[in-house]
Amino acid sequence: MKNKKSYSYYKQALTLMPAGVNSPVRAFTAVGGTPVFIDRGKGSRIYDVDDNAYIDYVLSWGPLILGHAHKEVVSAIRQAALKGTSFGAPTKAETQIAEIIVRAFPSVEKVRLVNSGTEAVMSAIRLARSFTKKNKIIKFEGCYHGHSDALLVKAGSGLATFGVPSSSGVPLDCARNTLVLPYNNIDAVRSAVRSGYKDIAAVVLEPVCGNMGVVLPRKNFLSDLRSITQKYRVLLIFDEVITGFRFCFGGSQKVYNVPADITCLGKIIGGGMPIGAYGARQEIMDCAAPLGSMYQAGTLSGNPLAVACGLKTLQILRELDYNRLSILCEGLCRNIEEVCRSASIDARVNRIGSMFTLFFTTKEVFDYRTACACDLGRYAAFFRAVLEAGVYMAPAQFEANFLSFAHTDKDIERTVRVMGKALKKIGCMSSEGRGTTARYAR
Ligand SMILES: *Cc1c(COP(=O)(O)O)cnc(C)c1O
Repeated sequence: MKNKKSYSYYKQALTLMPAGVNSPVRAFTAVGGTPVFIDRGKGSRIYDVDDNAYIDYVLSWGPLILGHAHKEVVSAIRQAALKGTSFGAPTKAETQIAEIIVRAFPSVEKVRLVNSGTEAVMSAIRLARSFTKKNKIIKFEGCYHGHSDALLVKAGSGLATFGVPSSSGVPLDCARNTLVLPYNNIDAVRSAVRSGYKDIAAVVLEPVCGNMGVVLPRKNFLSDLRSITQKYRVLLIFDEVITGFRFCFGGSQKVYNVPADITCLGKIIGGGMPIGAYGARQEIMDCAAPLGSMYQAGTLSGNPLAVACGLKTLQILRELDYNRLSILCEGLCRNIEEVCRSASIDARVNRIGSMFTLFFTTKEVFDYRTACACDLGRYAAFFRAVLEAGVYMAPAQFEANFLSFAHTDKDIERTVRVMGKALKKIGCMSSEGRGTTARYAR
């Protein structure tokens, strides 16, 4: 049996952790089968405990843009560890990484490091409320901003539904201040802001979505958001936890030329270590304690190991050619669409730079509703078939896949071959029609 050890570790894990995992999507609930337990990674590959190799397109959900166990990054972590793992006092490396972030994001004059993307967005919301002295926020259906209470809310159907929590354990009172709108629908935003701006502190979004699968902002969506929020003195928060340093040495705000008021970062800036950051122009950031009255703190914030790993990652990244990565990904996606066509399977790939999602559908996917309308059963079958053949894709359609600078033309060729075979196999099967199993937290 190919996954013998994984299976036995999984069985034990099930008795000790909910669903055997420390974050929900790892349990493979949306795609079925048994999660593989990973032993190690190197470059574009991961190896499970049974020594099966996989070309990895999850890359720890985005952070590993240099690939696994990059030599210089590992060495930077090692050197930092030898000097001590945490001090709870300032270190020089924190200033160095802050300087890189501030230079790469013109809308950010000051930045605070935290320990996760969740913390970054949670703090950004508190900051926006403190600065504007208003309480309500607007978010978009299908955008994920971490698992803090106020953001675990999605809309039911209808244009503008005030908060219904999408997790139990979130009081209605928390969700009540969160207004949820459909992504890419600027008219919904305009009317909500126009009628409610006196209470609305901020609009928060993924400027490019990764968490309903990859969904791109439509032409002018971001710039229209910018002008509407500016006009009504509502802050615009870009959650660039995935997109920060993913498409260029900066964020989506550089790609689309739309500055945010507050920017949230995570994932790549930690290079695979736990980190997050939020930043803004000085007048906003100075609301944070101890200068201002917005309290936010962290025992391990700016942790030396996380900062050493993130700093080295960014220093290496600064010298690399993002265009190369984008071309590699474009080639992969074009080939995936081609093998789908030749297997007579309806599919569309949404891609920007080095992130992409394969949707089994005939229609354009531009928001959460259209993402939910895709054939999730077929995605599940596809996922299992390519996993079996050594390609590790996101274990749910509602996720982004990533490329790293460690991926090669050979990796892509192999992936396309594996996918071609898998698609022919599942093309013969009818879809399982599992229904919607959306997710809100990984
Ligand atoms: C991953 C993610 C988060 C949460 O970050 P964690 O480090 O998992 O807490 C927030 N926003 C976006 C857009 C993300 O992709």
